[in-house]
Amino acid sequence: MTSPHQPREPSLAPTDVVAIDGPSGAGKSTVARMLAKKLGFAYLDTGAMYRAVTWHFLQEGCAPSECAAEPDRGEARMRAALANARLELRDGRVVLNGRDVTAHLRVREVESQVSAVSALPFVRAAMSNLQRIVASHGPVVAEGRDMGSVVFPRARWKVYLDAAPSERARRRAQDFERQGRIVSENDVLEEILVRDRLDSTRSDAPLRQADGALYVDSTGLLTEVVVERLLAFVRDGAVAHPAQRREVR
Ligand code: C5P
Repeated sequence: MTSPHQPREPSLAPTDVVAIDGPSGAGKSTVARMLAKKLGFAYLDTGAMYRAVTWHFLQEGCAPSECAAEPDRGEARMRAALANARLELRDGRVVLNGRDVTAHLRVREVESQVSAVSALPFVRAAMSNLQRIVASHGPVVAEGRDMGSVVFPRARWKVYLDAAPSERARRRAQDFERQGRIVSENDVLEEILVRDRLDSTRSDAPLRQADGALYVDSTGLLTEVVVERLLAFVRDGAVAHPAQRREVR
């Protein structure tokens, strides 16, 4: 992973970051994008970064499933591939080594490998570094799995966005349908549950509700309603605090 900047550690001062974490299909991307627009903040989709790296590994023939027989050699190849990847986020597009790869990020092969790729500590270190560089340039709404817990522990606002698994599966199946992919809700539900388990049980930066994060269950709520709640949370000037764990529904 090339970057003109030095690695950055989390700053000790509260940062102008709205950190939104949660499981797959909870609606984070749509909510975060809309919120960023309303606030005039940049939008950082960190799942897209992990997906882009996964796609790159697949292109280079060194994705985890392809390297399972030779783990050491596989890791060396992934490290080399990562070192040669120049990842840029431009206006909602993901550009890898000068090529717009946005359209490839939600294909099935990427989806089935991304949790294994994102569990690799050297991949996480490179991504976290890039994410902090993006946030050092101005206020951001950053969404992912470890925004509030690891990458931006001093984020001024932290949110954990959740929804019932059946609703998450339904939303994802609708997303796929819009992309022309017909997948049964049951299959999507199974995939979601596998990814949730892998993402929340890995040793490095597992998915969890960060200390002080506002818990929002979006089951049955319109996107606009969730966005309005988060907007009020940010505009109220509420600073996330370890003792604060509100339930809104
Ligand atoms: O959010 P999205 O579904 O695009 O994320 C794809 C995958 O990337 C997740 O299932 C997870 O494995 C990984 N991810 C992560 N940390 C983040 C964001 C995404 O591990 N901050």
